[in-house]
Amino acid sequence: MSDGTTSPATSSVPRPRPGVAALRAYAPDDTPCAVDLSDNTNLWGPPPSATALLRELPSSAMARYPGLDARDLGRVLAQYAGVAPDMIVTGCGSDDVLDASMRAYAEPGERLAYMDPTFSMVPVFARLSGLDVRPIPLTENYDADPGALLAQRAAVTYLCSPNNPTATSLSRETIERVVKEAQGLVIVDEAYAEFSGLSVVDLVARSERLVVTRTLSKAFGLAGLRVGYGIASPAVAREIGKARGPYKVNAVAERVAVRVLRDDAEWVRARAADAVANRERFVTTLRERGLQPLPSAANFVLVPIRNARAVARAMSERGVLVRTFEALRPVSPALRATHGDAIRIGIGPWEQMEAALGALTEALRACA
Ligand SMILES: *Cc1c(COP(=O)(O)O)cnc(C)c1O
Repeated sequence: MSDGTTSPATSSVPRPRPGVAALRAYAPDDTPCAVDLSDNTNLWGPPPSATALLRELPSSAMARYPGLDARDLGRVLAQYAGVAPDMIVTGCGSDDVLDASMRAYAEPGERLAYMDPTFSMVPVFARLSGLDVRPIPLTENYDADPGALLAQRAAVTYLCSPNNPTATSLSRETIERVVKEAQGLVIVDEAYAEFSGLSVVDLVARSERLVVTRTLSKAFGLAGLRVGYGIASPAVAREIGKARGPYKVNAVAERVAVRVLRDDAEWVRARAADAVANRERFVTTLRERGLQPLPSAANFVLVPIRNARAVARAMSERGVLVRTFEALRPVSPALRATHGDAIRIGIGPWEQMEAALGALTEALRACA
């Protein structure tokens, strides 16, 4: 405006929805560090067949749209999960499937009941869908509280096992009871199932209200490609797919995922076993040093630590990045002792765990 006056167009900037304006953008610490143990991905890297396929990819994988609904991927995932192909719904990461599940099964204003602490994106997706979020504390031994969850009569109930960030598993009885008695949709997030060897996918055949979500971002080492999936009855899978929309799994990601599931399932299993072995060794060492990591069924451990942010910063200055949590709901004595402060450490090759132990020891000394 050369004459210095404000035009009506610039005085009326569009206002975002209040629920969006109030959200803080997802912003984990992403300081570059030589050893990054902050995001629970596969620290051995991607499976060898993924790297090989990317080198020989035809240009047709880019110029055209992917197949509608990622049907090739759906078929191999069905085989991997031991279900029929029409029971699979894929998405751009399992985040996409979680988000679409809420959109498909809850009207704005209806409730999402979820265990707390859990995956931080869940209440965010729920709020973006206009849902009324109802966190229900975990029990002292990190199980969900089925009575309190069911009492919410929620349109969608979210459970996570093994749970992020606690790394703990839910009991099978708890999940079975919630699935049996809930009114609405029940999501069981199994992003880390490959590390626990436990799954409730078998319950899907018996329930019209269950969706089990999984991902290729963690054990499968493909977080950058963004592929996730849900396993549900054909009717539920179809509705979630409609709410998600078409073409969410890109053509390159689909080809790589199909190749990895066909050729590298054994590589993935072996690395998951390595992670579990290193986790046990790491947890034992932490306990010997007087720390109280929560019992882990995943490829990471949550370590309650006072002053977690300062400790994590001191670790990153020593080249090791971990994830900080502050004021988690203090459901157990170990979390109460630190007012809910903790660091979450991903498990990878032993050299990386040694680096983590060294940095943690020095950081604790520096912050004492
Ligand atoms: C990492 C994670 C996801 C998301 O995974 P994407 O498939 O990469 O979107 C979902 N749930 C939990 C509990 C996670 O930790």
